Amino acid sequence: MAFIIDGKRIAAETRAEIAAEVAEQKAKGVTPGLAVIIVGENPASQVYVRNKHRACGEVGMYSEVIEMPADTAEDALLARISELNADGRIDGILVQLPLPAHINEERVINAIAPDKDVDAFHPVNTGKIMIGNPDFLPCTPAGVMVMLEKSGIEISGKKCVVVGRSNIVGKPMAMLLLGANGTVTVCHSRTKDLAAHTREADILVVAIGRADFITGDMVKEGAVVIDVGMNRREDGKLTGDVDFASTSERAGAITPVPGGVGPMTITMLLRNTLTASKLHHGLS
Ligand code: NDP
Repeated sequence: MAFIIDGKRIAAETRAEIAAEVAEQKAKGVTPGLAVIIVGENPASQVYVRNKHRACGEVGMYSEVIEMPADTAEDALLARISELNADGRIDGILVQLPLPAHINEERVINAIAPDKDVDAFHPVNTGKIMIGNPDFLPCTPAGVMVMLEKSGIEISGKKCVVVGRSNIVGKPMAMLLLGANGTVTVCHSRTKDLAAHTREADILVVAIGRADFITGDMVKEGAVVIDVGMNRREDGKLTGDVDFASTSERAGAITPVPGGVGPMTITMLLRNTLTASKLHHGLS
């Protein structure tokens, strides 16, 4: 039976470290601040935004939730972002995705000042990740890296396979593993004989959005398996992209869903907001 990598515990530990740093900054008269914009009333987005707001409060940060109606014009959203770019209380700006269909996501992301882009989706920040000199790391892949580090899992020289190539998870995940000297293969929906690749992995990261897709027979004995997936089953239960029952029989270590990668994502948003605040105030 695999070692279970406890995302809740690691997230709590990391948040305590962040809270201590926030307290140090506040003692110097600086409070890190995050603005989260939500357009429309997508219930899942509302939950995510509430969680982010609450998490900021718990580590002592300032945060604002800006709710805009679903029929908000793109120009009005861009104008609001421009105000926040100039607002000294705000170190980080996050626009909750997805946006309503009439708004161009790319234009919106590009309007956020790169030094306040705590999701690290702006092309300036994705470019900095590519050249290995980032200010911020995208929250989910960054969370995976912290989980590996805090679990004492060595990446250097390991064969790493990332399944999924989205701009939010798969691609930056591959870059971070490469930056840590892993030998990285990226698989996607057109990959031929996926199992032949996944079976080679010492570290397997799965982010595809398909419930229980990776099964034990697709995994090497003793591998580290990181399940980024978050899928709702018909019975309403949350499940990952990895079939936990069969995979945990073969893996050396595995993240559960829920309680694995999920709790790390907001934690890394807090870390990025703190980093932005330090950059803005010349603190380190
Ligand atoms: P996307 O839908 O943007 O990307 C999915 C990727 O998986 C694509 O690259 C796609 O390939 C690939 N893929 C789909 N089907 C297969 C298949 N059968 N075999 C191999 N590759 C396949 O998803 P995201 O990256 O945004 O999210 C992935 C999962 O992670 C989702 O379950 C999401 O909910 C979860 N997630 C969890 C977070 C957390 O905090 N824990 C945060 C963000 C996401 P192609 O490019 O060829 O289409």
